[in-house]
Amino acid sequence: MNAPAASPPTPLQDAALKMIRALVGFDTTSRDSNLGLIHWVRDYLGGYGIVSQLTFDDDRRKANLFATLPAQDGNTTTNGVVLSGHTDVVPVDDQPWDTPPFEATLEGNRLVGRGVTDMKSFSAIALAQVPMLLRRGLRRPVHFALSYDEEVGCIGVRRLIADIAARGIRPAGCIIGEPSGMRVVVAHKGKRSYRCHVRGHEAHSALTVSGVNAVQVASEIVSFLAQMARRFRDRGPFDAAYEVPFTTVHTGVIRGGTALNIVPRDCRFDFEFRHLPSEDPEAMLAEVKRFAATLLPEMHAVDASTYIEFDPLSATPGFESHGGNEIAELGRRCSGSSDFGKVSFGSEAALFHNAGVQTIICGPGHIAQAHQPNEWVALEQLALCEAFMGRLADQVCAT
Ligand SMILES: [Zn+2]
Repeated sequence: MNAPAASPPTPLQDAALKMIRALVGFDTTSRDSNLGLIHWVRDYLGGYGIVSQLTFDDDRRKANLFATLPAQDGNTTTNGVVLSGHTDVVPVDDQPWDTPPFEATLEGNRLVGRGVTDMKSFSAIALAQVPMLLRRGLRRPVHFALSYDEEVGCIGVRRLIADIAARGIRPAGCIIGEPSGMRVVVAHKGKRSYRCHVRGHEAHSALTVSGVNAVQVASEIVSFLAQMARRFRDRGPFDAAYEVPFTTVHTGVIRGGTALNIVPRDCRFDFEFRHLPSEDPEAMLAEVKRFAATLLPEMHAVDASTYIEFDPLSATPGFESHGGNEIAELGRRCSGSSDFGKVSFGSEAALFHNAGVQTIICGPGHIAQAHQPNEWVALEQLALCEAFMGRLADQVCAT
């Protein structure tokens, strides 16, 4: 860990800062194993006599962790509050970092490092409360849920949710610490992402008419997606509670062709819809497919084996709870703010919500600082998160 020469005064308790440093110190980029971090947390909780339940991915390279601090009456299964965070982070590849990304470095009134805002600080501050929660005793269970593969489509948490349901654990509510500026968030957009593969027909570029140019076909579909994006932007539907108050469409990756003098045979591109919870993403995909189908006759006239294919990459449902539930009220009491927010990024909230667990999002930092080089979080946000946890403790503790 990087010990700065002179630490500025921090409102954070040492235990929380230490815990953040420990979690950020594990490189848990989504493509890699997260077991180092998971085993470390398991051992930390084990030191307090708390047993962790791990649920693994198919290769047993990654795991979710679920652990319960029992209520004083022995209850471990009902009426609990889940504190939930994903352990994975997005890659730092090709990003210009000024500090080692997998170290939490204090810089003035900020903490810098991959995952400090998205979203290891929340999990760390929550975990640092364990000794205090146990000392004060709990009136209702507190659960910790740490997941893998959130950044690549909320994959891991589905197994965690299935596992706790199978074991008869029925929490009353869940707080997910995605960066919300410590505002209580009760809705987020849904996300669908897809890969489109255009198979054309290769030819010498002097003989374009005997080929099917996969790059050009793909770019027509990409342009159609851009038109859809403009339509949502200009005509809605709108929900002003979101920072981006309409459904967005975006193409993020495109690959095609091998050389300028060859009519390209293949082109693949990845695109996504981030839709208002009230909107139907299936209908959006159907619209794109209908457009793609209009391009096929010209392609097939040259080569009947050409095609356009769409494969789903990920699906995170939208989430809309309107805030009218106990966990939203609890969040409001703990955050001290009276209004509820909505956010444009997806999260695991929808999956907990759809499994019947009332869910809010409330975590330190802001999504604009996530996924960036020199990802940072303000110490003030961390202090607000710690204060939130303190008020939560007052709500759930016996003394
Ligand atoms: Zn996140």
